[in-house]
Amino acid sequence: MHRENNRRSIPTPYKLACRGSKRKPSRVRVGEVVFGDKALVIIAGPCSVESEQQLITIAKLVKKAGANVLRGGAYKPRTDPYDFQGLAEKGLRYLAQAKNETGLKICTEVIDPRDVRLVSQHTDILQIGTRNMQNYALLREVGKIKKAVLLKRGMSASYEELLLAAEYIMSQGNKEVVLCERGIRTFENYTRNTLDLCAVPALKELTHLPVIVDPSHGTGKRTLVSPMAKAAVAAGADGLIVEVHTDPDNSISDADQTISTGDFAVLVKELRQIALINHRGL
Ligand code: PEP
Ligand code: MN
Repeated sequence: MHRENNRRSIPTPYKLACRGSKRKPSRVRVGEVVFGDKALVIIAGPCSVESEQQLITIAKLVKKAGANVLRGGAYKPRTDPYDFQGLAEKGLRYLAQAKNETGLKICTEVIDPRDVRLVSQHTDILQIGTRNMQNYALLREVGKIKKAVLLKRGMSASYEELLLAAEYIMSQGNKEVVLCERGIRTFENYTRNTLDLCAVPALKELTHLPVIVDPSHGTGKRTLVSPMAKAAVAAGADGLIVEVHTDPDNSISDADQTISTGDFAVLVKELRQIALINHRGL
């Protein structure tokens, strides 16, 4: 009898990431925070680490609202080379400080293979951004360390290309990969990207890896973030990553899509209700 999930007849080129390689969906454990568990993981914080005070203030507020992980870029992959590029090592130190003060786990982006070891010393989750989803040298480097990786979908990447990028990381030994749908480029230009929520149930058919959603980059518009965050949870996402600031209009980067700490607190309350329909919690 033909069994699609049989390990010996895996039909995909992504052997380690494919759904059939595991009996059950995987969990990615970051201490007490677990992606793929009944409880959804909420990552929140500013697009960029701007200052010590900015980060600590936001960290305390998102924690109070119910976030489990603090985000914030210290190395920013900016389209314009003259835009703010991040505080680099100083930003990493502020992230570590915010972790000490709040107990939140940290998620931050690494953009250069040469920085992987340094960044990994200051963070719990290494983020690979959309622009680097096919930076194979970087994928191999994060594949060599023992640290969870948040792999964002390339803005023009198919599901298979995303899963092959995950395979690059996993084939080096690091199996702790979480996938993130963050919007793709389409003809629509009212939104910054088109958030492809079909990716959530589709990826769950194709892979055992946890899948989270970024409604901030996925829409590019503050007013659309909460509705799409709720839709993502309804679609079965294992978590969210949301850009939040105490003064969204004055965020150094991605101001248009950043929500206030107050709106974030309201959103988390609403998400608790939505999660129930999938027998999940927060
Ligand atoms: C970010 O998270 O701030 C970011 C740059 O994300 P993406 O790579 O999805 O654009
Ligand atoms: Mn951003």
